[in-house]
Amino acid sequence: MAQSRTAIVTGAARGIGAAIAIRLAQDGFAVGVVDLDEAGCAETITAITSAGGRAIAVGADVSSSGDVDAAVRRVTEELGAPTVLVNNAGITKDNLLFKMSDEDWDAVMGVHLRGSFLMSRAVQAHQTEAGWGRVVNLSSVSALGNRGQANYSTAKAGLQGFTKTLAVELGKFGVTANAIAPGFIESEMTAATAERVGVPYEDFKKGAAEQIPVRRVGQPSDIAATVSFLVSEEAGFISGQVIYVAGGPRD
Ligand code: NAP
Repeated sequence: MAQSRTAIVTGAARGIGAAIAIRLAQDGFAVGVVDLDEAGCAETITAITSAGGRAIAVGADVSSSGDVDAAVRRVTEELGAPTVLVNNAGITKDNLLFKMSDEDWDAVMGVHLRGSFLMSRAVQAHQTEAGWGRVVNLSSVSALGNRGQANYSTAKAGLQGFTKTLAVELGKFGVTANAIAPGFIESEMTAATAERVGVPYEDFKKGAAEQIPVRRVGQPSDIAATVSFLVSEEAGFISGQVIYVAGGPRD
């Protein structure tokens, strides 16, 4: 990297987001670690700073435009203008369609779609000014349809359209936008799914691994490595793509 660049990773207190933030810090980025609860980001911050990296924790609800604007302003003041954005924050509110509440639909759309929109709109001002930028959105294999996830699969499919549109609009400013669609990744999100369906997590993971061509479930580091590549200098001709990181093909 020619000069130190600043990245923002949302939902980076734990799980996939934490792994991405730590990896980008290793790659030389100063990282704005954004999550609902600032104090909850402490572990991620310590992992980065104890290895000599630069990071700050910022508490923000990505579905609130006031929070988002304040968060991007703080990162800009304390770490420098952000030109890399990873929209990772996510929630699930699973239920079969006939039992899904209005609130569960709106909450999932709010975090994934509105959150990614608000963050991207705020950060593009810095990217276009710099004439360089990277956006990576976290989609999911659920975008292809998944029982009990009418809200989540819709949001994750929506993020793919959002990604392609960002790629079209921002390309002339040196900004690429891509989506990663993870398969089963070991995290609190999949642990919660196992609990909801009443299967011990170890059995749940084993069952999932048997269905995956590479015969293992994914780790947050698998996603972090993909982000690391997509935000790198040499990935500058890849834009508007959806990369399935799922241990096998998806269509
Ligand atoms: P996770 O362990 O549940 O972590 C999600 C993080 O996002 C949490 O720290 C959470 O904070 C934060 N968050 C939730 N709502 C937020 C909001 N409104 N504003 C700011 N932060 C918010 O999930 P994960 O498994 O790491 O998943 C990360 C991303 O990958 C998500 O977009 C998810 O949909 C996607 N994904 C995951 C898998 C998988 O198998 N795990 C597969 C495909 C896609 P709190 O703890 O305070 O709620």
